[in-house]
This record gives sequence, structure tokens and C-alpha cells, in this order.
Amino acid sequence: MDYAAADRTHVWHPFTQQRTWTEAEPLVIASAEGNWLVDTGGRRYLDGVASLWCNVHGHRHPHIDAAVTAQLAQVAHSTLLGLTSTAAVEAAAALTAVAPTRLTRVFFSENGAAAVEVALKMAFGYWRNVGEASRRSFLALDEAYHGDTLGAVSVGGIDLFHAAYAPLLFECFRAPTNLPRRSLDALLGPMDATLSAHAHEICAVVIEPRCQGAAGMITFPDGYLRGVRELCDRYDVLMICDEVATGFGRTGTMFACDSEAVTPDLMTVGKGITGGYLPMSATFATEAVYESFLGDPAEGRQLFHGHTYSGNALAAAACIANLEVFRDEDTLAHAEVAAAAMAARLDTIAEHDQVVDVRRAGMMVGIELDARAGAPGAAAVCARVRDLGVILRPLGPVIVWMPPLSITLDEVELLADATEKAIGELV
Ligand code: PMP
Repeated sequence: MDYAAADRTHVWHPFTQQRTWTEAEPLVIASAEGNWLVDTGGRRYLDGVASLWCNVHGHRHPHIDAAVTAQLAQVAHSTLLGLTSTAAVEAAAALTAVAPTRLTRVFFSENGAAAVEVALKMAFGYWRNVGEASRRSFLALDEAYHGDTLGAVSVGGIDLFHAAYAPLLFECFRAPTNLPRRSLDALLGPMDATLSAHAHEICAVVIEPRCQGAAGMITFPDGYLRGVRELCDRYDVLMICDEVATGFGRTGTMFACDSEAVTPDLMTVGKGITGGYLPMSATFATEAVYESFLGDPAEGRQLFHGHTYSGNALAAAACIANLEVFRDEDTLAHAEVAAAAMAARLDTIAEHDQVVDVRRAGMMVGIELDARAGAPGAAAVCARVRDLGVILRPLGPVIVWMPPLSITLDEVELLADATEKAIGELV
């Protein structure tokens, strides 16, 4: 098959100007091995963005492969509406065992955006259920990204992605994040002021903990998460942590919330939940949120939300196996070593003339280039590193590194060498 031709004829790619796309020769991935993707011509590329931030232990990990294959011999999918399944129950138990302690309930969806929609509906429903129907709004962050469905876009704050849909969105209160000085006072002060005036209208504060990914890896200072938790407690609003990008070890701890021992009321995860194998996401809730939905069926308090593939058995098997690999291979310990190697190379990269800022939270890295008119950008660097055997994808002027947590120290050197060489060639 002529894959490039058939792609141009039939495939509409996400977040892509198709005219530009169809003018270029696409890279067609045929297989993968460990931290490497292999194209139809047999060329190998280091997966420097973990297949859009989701691969954790490398591709074709024997333990996850075996778990999915074994599940296939049992059942691939059965519904969670009116039935339950061994795989989904085991996955929910395994997930709650690693989640912050008060998050005891798991609602399964299929992608990060859906998990966020569910969290918003749970927060909205919670207040209605406890008799405070005046709470109809949310406090979200500037530059936020929570996915592309309309509720998630409403709490999003990236104009380039979100402005096109403005007439379809609900309004939110906002707190600033991308400030020249991101001190705790500068970040938390405006949030405090808004909550103090409007808490009675607000269901929840929604944040990406430790690092706003799609915004270009905007990192938060230590204490920010605790500070937000304290404000939510003081003003009695729920706290939603969107860990779709940060979850499963990406910032150094299993969940970013763990780094400040914070338990949100609702937490969303996706991406790495199956090790990057299969589409699955989850919304975690506390007992208090969960219990507010209990009642007589006729009262109509149940959560009116669900997806066909919620709790899919193959995805659930991958999820369980993913968590087993974390335990058996001490993935977080390895990731810490690899992240330290990345940090060492970033110190040098930061000195380059074209680089205006380097930000890192664990294995989430943003290298921001000078974006003044005429300066060649991160897109050029990402195109060039492909010739050097590395796949990267930029976010505006920011080069992103977000490899699988299983990246080896040699592969870190390759990633850094290729990036440094490509930045050095920019004039
Ligand atoms: N929340 C965050 C923080 C994300 O980074 C993303 C995706 N990059 C999403 C939600 C949406 O996830 P999905 O693409 O699986 O819908």
C-alpha cells in the first residue's frame, strides 16, 4: 500500500493544517521497540515525546504485551452499564491503591478530555446535591489546557486553541499563571481575591498540578499546590487536579499531587494510565463527592454520564500491568536518575543564545526559544532532529522533551546531542 498517498486521501489529522501536511512527505510508523519508533523504511527514531506524552515503560514491554494478550483470550470488552467485569474491578482497585489516599472512587472514560468533563459534572452535581445550586462556575487558570471537548475547552485558557469556539463555551473565573515572576504570592493572591468575592458561585478550582503542559511546560513553584488546597479549604470549594499529563510518574512522583502530599477532591488521569498502550482515562473522587450522588433512583441523583468503552477490559489489563511494572522495575527510581541526566544537559542548553528559558518538572521539559520576529523556531529544531533520529514535537516557541520514563542514559545523551546540534544550527 502507498501509505503516504492513502493518508493524504483519507486521514484528517488532529491539530493539523491539512494543506501544509499534504504538501510534505509523512513519516509513517510501522512498528516500535523499547523507546524507539520504526518507520516503513526500517529507520529508527527515539520517541522523544513518548507518543504524545503517554508511553511510560517503552513500546512492546513484555509484561504489558503479555497482559493484553492474556486478556484477549478472556474478553476484549463488556459494558460497565448494568454489569461489571473482573478486569475493570481489578484496575479500579490497583489505581486507588496508588492514588492519594482519600481518592477512593474511580470513574472510567476513554480519553483525558472526557475525564475532565466527568470531573466538571461531578463537581457541579456535588453542589446541587448538597443544596447549593447557586454554584455554577469554575475557577480555572490562564494558559490552561484540559482537552478539546467543550467543557474542557471552557476551562482551558490557550487562545490559539480555544478562541475559535468562544460562542459555545461557558464562562469561568480565572487566575494568572504565566507571569514574569511566578512567586507564590503573585500566583495565589489573585486566586484568593476571586475566591473571597465569588466562592458562593464557584464549584471548583481546576489546575494542572506542578506543570501546565500544553501551555509550554509552565512550572509552578514549590508550595503552590498546597497553597491552592488551602484556599479551596478556606473558601469551601472543591479542588480538581488534572493529572492527565503529569500522572504516572511524569513529574517524579506517581502523581504530581504526591509531591506536596495534597489530595484533591477530584483528580483526572489518562495518557500514561495504560503505559501508553490503549485509550483509557479515569476520574477519581473522594467519598464525600461520591456519597452526594447517592439516593433513591427516582430522585435522579445518579451521575448522568457514561461512555461505551468505559472500563474496557483490554485497557484495564494494560493499566494493571502498567502499575505492576512501576512496582517491579522501580520505574520512579530510574526516572529520577534519567531526569537528573536531562537536567545536567539542560544547564548547557540554557546557555545557548537562542534559548530564553528552560523549565523542567521531572521528565516534563520545555526549552523556550527566542520567538522574536524572524527568529527560527522550535518547529525547525524538531524537523532537524528527525534527521538525527529523534522525534520531537514543539509547542509554539517551546521544544518539548517528554520521553518514556524508561529512557536510558545513552538515549538521554542522544536526545540532548540532537537538540543541541539543531539549536546550534539556527542562525
Ligand atoms: N488534560 C491535560 C492536562 C492534557 O495535557 C491533555 C492532553 N494533552 C488532556 C487533558 C486531554 O487528554 P486527551 O488528549 O486524552 O483528551
